[in-house]
Amino acid sequence: MSNRSNRKCATGKVGFCSQRRAMMACARIAANSRRDYLPERAYHCWRCGRWHLTSQPKEG
Ligand SMILES: [Zn+2]
Repeated sequence: MSNRSNRKCATGKVGFCSQRRAMMACARIAANSRRDYLPERAYHCWRCGRWHLTSQPKEG
C-alpha cells in the first residue's frame, strides 16, 4: 500500500483515504455546487491506492 498521501495522483484528481470519505465529499460537493457536472460515485484508484470521485458510470 502506498503511504505517499501528499503526492498528487497521475489522474490529477483529489484522493481520499477511504470510500466513505470520498462519498462524504461527494455529498458535500453536490450540496454546494451549481455545476451540471457532479461526481456520482467513488472508485478505487490503482495508481495511488486512494479513492477518487467520478461522474462516469464506468471505472476510469
Ligand atoms: Zn489515484
